[in-house]
Amino acid sequence: MPNISSDPYWWNAAPPQDFQIESWPNQVDVVIIGGGYTGFGAAITLARAGLDVVIIERDQIGSGASTRNGGITSGNIRLSFDKLSKRFGKEKAIAFYREAKTARADLFNFINTEEIDCDLQSCGRLVGALRPESLEGMKREADKLDKLLDIESTIYDQANLPNCIDTPRYCGGVLRDDISGIHPAKLLAGMCKVARAELVKISTQTKVLSVSQNKQASTDQNFCVETTRGTIRAGHVISATNAYTDSSQPWLRRRLVPVISEMIATEELGENMVRSLMPGMNMYSEALQLGHYYRPSPDGKRVLLGGRRMSADPVKARNRLVKGLTSIFPQLSDASISNHWFGFVAFPFDQLPKLAVHDGVFYPSGFCGSGTVWARWLGQKAALMVLNDLNGSEFQNIPFRTMPFYSGDPWFLPLAMNFYAFQDKFKTTTK
Ligand SMILES: Cc1cc2nc3c(=O)[nH]c(=O)nc-3n(C[C@H](O)[C@H](O)[C@H](O)COP(=O)(O)OP(=O)(O)OC[C@H]3O[C@@H](n4cnc5c(N)ncnc54)[C@H](O)[C@@H]3O)c2cc1C
Repeated sequence: MPNISSDPYWWNAAPPQDFQIESWPNQVDVVIIGGGYTGFGAAITLARAGLDVVIIERDQIGSGASTRNGGITSGNIRLSFDKLSKRFGKEKAIAFYREAKTARADLFNFINTEEIDCDLQSCGRLVGALRPESLEGMKREADKLDKLLDIESTIYDQANLPNCIDTPRYCGGVLRDDISGIHPAKLLAGMCKVARAELVKISTQTKVLSVSQNKQASTDQNFCVETTRGTIRAGHVISATNAYTDSSQPWLRRRLVPVISEMIATEELGENMVRSLMPGMNMYSEALQLGHYYRPSPDGKRVLLGGRRMSADPVKARNRLVKGLTSIFPQLSDASISNHWFGFVAFPFDQLPKLAVHDGVFYPSGFCGSGTVWARWLGQKAALMVLNDLNGSEFQNIPFRTMPFYSGDPWFLPLAMNFYAFQDKFKTTTK
């Protein structure tokens, strides 16, 4: 068995980083807990407005999900347009989807303006359908998004699907042009560089132990943040810990379900092979609850594929991903795997991202596995709230519920996963 690294493939080009603060700041304007896309999205906005900002990171910059992900900039909302309309009304559903469109465009604009070298590929994302009924539903959704929001899609049937992908698994698919690919770890490293240039202070290997509010104190010292390196007083606190939230933030922990998402990277297959499998060189996913997401590596030499973890045993988990890979590309039955890694994604119980405020602390969180767009965007929105900017977010005032007796340990997850797997069986055609 060849040596399979448990580090993300992305770390070859952009490994996690450590930063220390020369003299510990006893007081700052804003403390941000967590150094991923959310934290840096907030920090850059605040520092550019002239505020004194510190990011406190328990581990290294990049040890969370922001360097472990697939780099597919979907800005996805898990609930379909129809489900959102039923729950919130059509106008609000349009507003949610419009914000997703704006957030995606804002990320591309940010990457281009800041000249962040993160292998941005404006290649579109194809969602493969395993059954004709799924394809029909996807076509209806695509038609709605086109009419209501000018989001264009291209429909592929069995005949023209080989222009995008060479697979026996799908009967068609829908390609969205507005979704791209990035190198996730290079994006985070680029955001970190921008933040440092704006004099954001960063302290890694520093764990936040507690956050308390003193309403009697002056507003610029409202909060007391206790860390393993010392205490900081601050006017504001933004929590950017998302699926990695620990017991120092019990309110948030009770509202998020951390779910393992994991990926494999093949050894180099060569550009010709990868292009023959994926002639569209797009980003890809599947119309299933527990479907796979996959893509060519930015250099076009490997295939990277991810999915939700179904087994606690890492070997079984890897075998499941390999099985997924070969069910899409039987041509890869002999391919070796170079990396197999995992990370956590956070789901609120209603499966909608949140921009919540509780006891004065801002909580941009719960991106349901689509944080390459949402995390930076809602981190930035939290910063704008600190700055009293009234351009809010549609995700601001929706209830952020927990469940009785839930404290952050999702004992029910295996049951939920099996339920989704059961549902998926009916969306999988027998060929
Ligand atoms: C395998 C995988 C594949 C994915 N694929 C995609 C994809 O293709 N497209 C997409 O859009 N999204 C994807 N995602 C989701 C995306 O990566 C996340 O939504 C996003 O990175 C969340 O960013 P964040 O900044 O909120 O959190 P993170 O990047 O997870 O950062 C949180 C940080 O908080 C720190 N922290 C926690 N507690 C403390 C504490 N007490 N003190 C100090 N620091 C603390 C942690 O150490 C961590 O570094 C994927 C995720 C995974 C794991």
